[in-house]
Amino acid sequence: MEYISTRDKTKIVNSAQAIAMGIADDGGLFCPKEFPKICDNEILSLIDFDYKKRASFIFSKFLTDFTQDEIDEFCKKAYSNEKFEDGNIAPVVSLSEGKNILELWHGPTCAFKDMALQILPHFLTASLKKLGENRTTCILVATSGDTGKAALDGFANVKGTKIIVYYPFYGVSKIQKLQMTTQEGENVQVIAIDGNFDDAQSAVKKIFTDEHTKNKMNKNNMMFSSANSINWGRLLPQIVYYVSAYCDMVKNKTIKNGEKINICVPTGNFGNILAAYFAKQMGIPVNKLICASNKNNVLTDFFKNNGIYDKNREFYKTNSPSMDILVSSNLERLLFYVSGQNSELIKQYMENLNLYGKYQISKEIYEKICCYFDAGYCDDEKTKQTIKNIWENEKYLCDTHTAVAINVYNEYRERTGDKTQTIIVSTASPFKFCNDVIKAIDDKKSLNCDDIISLDILSDITNIKKPKPLSNLYDKKIRFDKIINKNEILKTVDILIEN
Ligand SMILES: *Cc1c(COP(=O)(O)O)cnc(C)c1O
Repeated sequence: MEYISTRDKTKIVNSAQAIAMGIADDGGLFCPKEFPKICDNEILSLIDFDYKKRASFIFSKFLTDFTQDEIDEFCKKAYSNEKFEDGNIAPVVSLSEGKNILELWHGPTCAFKDMALQILPHFLTASLKKLGENRTTCILVATSGDTGKAALDGFANVKGTKIIVYYPFYGVSKIQKLQMTTQEGENVQVIAIDGNFDDAQSAVKKIFTDEHTKNKMNKNNMMFSSANSINWGRLLPQIVYYVSAYCDMVKNKTIKNGEKINICVPTGNFGNILAAYFAKQMGIPVNKLICASNKNNVLTDFFKNNGIYDKNREFYKTNSPSMDILVSSNLERLLFYVSGQNSELIKQYMENLNLYGKYQISKEIYEKICCYFDAGYCDDEKTKQTIKNIWENEKYLCDTHTAVAINVYNEYRERTGDKTQTIIVSTASPFKFCNDVIKAIDDKKSLNCDDIISLDILSDITNIKKPKPLSNLYDKKIRFDKIINKNEILKTVDILIEN
């Protein structure tokens, strides 16, 4: 299978190169030149497979320079019951009025980033080996919370790699901080930056581009890499759970094989919903993809307002923080396909985004996109109301991000009258954002409680067990307590070299 860059379709690489490089030299994102298809009969044959086998089947269509044995081995390691608390890995829970909740948070960090970051280390190390790379790979991550922990957990004790995560000391929740500072593994490092997320992010960029540091790494037989969401190796694993959910819905007779579904996704960087579009490209019968945003509704405006993408606007801190984002990088991949792989045009749009923070897509592309996509957004108050309603009416407990998607779906169903069975993607455990969830379902209980007690409070009010990875968090030893000034960041590379 051939992969091309969104900004230069003449440059062709294989899957190992796409994964190892992460981003193309021209700044574009790697994409499969053509989508492998999955037919009705193949879906039928997948129905009796478990998640690991379904994943192997999909991966082997994309990773044609890997052997089936290699792929099976990656899946066995990544999607084990040791790592995922639910045996089904990504279970579907059917509720009323066409809602089928796809739970993607049963992994070791309780958010959906695990679905990709548990397997990415295997993809990456195998890709580097295939390319004859024998230096130790050092993964640098700047995080606002969820990605850092998921990357640490994925790369912990993976041979040939080291990982260092920088988080803003004042910018993450207590649970997120504990998740990172108690991380086990010989090859991991966690460092707090005395600053905000932007400081952490620009600090990491500084390391990537510092020539002296690069030379020093080289001398020690080491190199840098990133576990960022623009890497094809992070997107591919996300296609699997849409195919898997479709199989489960056929299996439990919610739909007939061949019947169309909708998919509604709480969206930030546009990675997760793009994977749903890719599942559709493979042949999963999809009617509408519904893009759900919070108050940072730049994508809603894009879909509703003639395809104008404009990030020049106020940035809001919301109760669904993992969706607080104004530049959705993966939209570039969608535009690439819908424009008929017009890399010249995409380059222009991205240049405009860079220069003016704004671009408008052609009428032709916009009209095509509107056939596949619908969009909506909801604010913090409505998010809370949705958590309360779904808990009281259906006894289903969801987190703030999932609630945004449920709210936008309800609004879509009412507006359009479309009664198609719909997958609503649930991206985090309600316990991961327990303070906001408690506030939503029982405001009196939320007075003065901090994150540590609130896990138990939420468990008590709802009679739902805390997820294991969060429940023993407070008994674990804190391994990393280093706080550094952002100007000292280059020195931290020595920690990687010495350890
Ligand atoms: C990362 C994240 C999202 C956004 O996903 P994208 O792929 O960036 O659109 C939504 N919810 C949670 C809980 C997340 O961690």
